[in-house]
Amino acid sequence: MAALNDSGATVRIADTLRPPQRVYLMYWSFAISNEKQNPAKVPLMDGVDIQWVHIDSDGNPDPTTSVLAAAQMVAGYGIVFKPALTSRHTQGLAIDMSITWQGNLSIRNAVGDLVVITSSPRNGSNSDLWSAGVTYGVIKLATDPPHWSSDGH
Ligand SMILES: [Zn+2]
Repeated sequence: MAALNDSGATVRIADTLRPPQRVYLMYWSFAISNEKQNPAKVPLMDGVDIQWVHIDSDGNPDPTTSVLAAAQMVAGYGIVFKPALTSRHTQGLAIDMSITWQGNLSIRNAVGDLVVITSSPRNGSNSDLWSAGVTYGVIKLATDPPHWSSDGH
């Protein structure tokens, strides 16, 4: 992060450590919204006060409203890919961030060399930036635009 900041790149961190309660909400909202999971069958989690099953005005389970509410949670968390119950995020070993810059990016790698990145795109999808990240032990997951971690997972 210091090297990125020194390089003048614009960095916006979206996500780092995910507490288990948050992962529970992300995982099950996605399952209900996108995978036809029955909200009545979602296991409870200690410390998380949520009703996955929404009730209609007659007091009956309302599947449509339940799925809609889950979809709103998915949108609120900005979930694009199916969340994992355990991941490098739950282990505190991952970061989601957008990185952009103008012109060339001059950034120090972990060895101390100044790397000048002249290639495109001028964002976190640039493979020359990925190579600089490797020197710090921060590995890009190519299929997940904002995601970097200790091992690329
Ligand atoms: Zn991530």
